[in-house]
Amino acid sequence: MSSNPDKTSVIWSPDIDRYARGDMPVEQVRCALCRLAPCECPAFGSDAYFALLDRRHARGERS
Ligand SMILES: [Zn+2]
Repeated sequence: MSSNPDKTSVIWSPDIDRYARGDMPVEQVRCALCRLAPCECPAFGSDAYFALLDRRHARGERS
């Protein structure tokens, strides 16, 4: 069983730039998927997780 996550499907948090600049503590960086901080995503690999991932991709968000 090898299910490596597709590296190209990584979605960055909208806050990642500010975090990278040191403007934001990591606890406040919103999750790229659920947009919550702290993250409240479904378990990685679950159906709900992939449904959420699909929704983010469908909206074509790249911030
Ligand atoms: Zn999340």
